[in-house]
Amino acid sequence: MSKCAPQEALRNLDRAFAHFFRRLKNGDPRGFPKFKSRKYGIGSFRLTGTIRVFPNTIQLPRLGRLRLKEQGYLPAESDQVHILSATLSEKAGRWFVSLLVQETLVVPDNRGPVVGVDVGLHRLAVVSDGTLYENPQALLRFERKLKRMQRSLARKRRGSRNRRRMVRRLQRLHWRITNIRRDALHQVTSMLARTKAVIVVEDLNVEGMKQHPHLAKAVTNAGFFEFRRQLVYKTAWYGSQLVVAPRFYPSSKRCSQCGYIKENLALSVRVFGCERCGVRLDRDVNASYNLVAVAVSCTETLNAWRETGGDSPSVGQCPSMMQELNTIQGDVLDG
Ligand SMILES: [Zn+2]
Repeated sequence: MSKCAPQEALRNLDRAFAHFFRRLKNGDPRGFPKFKSRKYGIGSFRLTGTIRVFPNTIQLPRLGRLRLKEQGYLPAESDQVHILSATLSEKAGRWFVSLLVQETLVVPDNRGPVVGVDVGLHRLAVVSDGTLYENPQALLRFERKLKRMQRSLARKRRGSRNRRRMVRRLQRLHWRITNIRRDALHQVTSMLARTKAVIVVEDLNVEGMKQHPHLAKAVTNAGFFEFRRQLVYKTAWYGSQLVVAPRFYPSSKRCSQCGYIKENLALSVRVFGCERCGVRLDRDVNASYNLVAVAVSCTETLNAWRETGGDSPSVGQCPSMMQELNTIQGDVLDG
């Protein structure tokens, strides 16, 4: 066994405590490190040292040369790319390697439009330029199959070979569902960060929504938090800017044409009808227009963006809106 495995695990623990204490100092008592067990652990370990990437193999300390099933996506060591560590993980009986690399990125000059993106349950995302992204509804699609397999697993005798086989099958199905969802998210966030210069999203209270008895499953399935997390780092890669509307900005209840704010708007109402100016719009499209309005009202952000000609920071600096996002970005960078 490599000495790195326990070493790096302790390093992770140290980092977890550092984050926890930093938070505590800011009066936020969340985030005490979670205990892991061998059974339900993270299922991964990290190696440092000499790591070499060849066309279809990878050389790792202690483990030697391992054949790669998928080829052509691992970065090889060069003048621009420096490999720092390799993390090996297991998922549903398969092993994966991911590399941490240090590389100088040339951030492109992004001269795309300003868009608002409404992240929803019915559709994955609605962009104010009219593009709709459907939610693949992976969980919903496989729900019955999952149920059947879970029932079947419960009937298998403990410790039996049949049970182990069923566990594996169930793991694979869960994994497939995750992959479908993850793929859809990556497609949308990459497209947005590459082609749009300013992206405005609303600040959703994800944890709060998960408490809601009717929304919990759908929210977990839609991956709101992951959507924003990906946008934070992808906008930095592709030279675009992410602006987050304030938590209580009424993006759904406001009329994007005249600014009239409705008192109540049930979630089931899919069409926004304005009582003052009579406009009728799709609910999510209306919300995405409202989000564009946030960017426009936040002139400081836009001016900074114009002056630097796309070379501005990835996260908008409009002071009234950015406090919370800054802490989120801090976490991403620290981690
Ligand atoms: Zn109106």
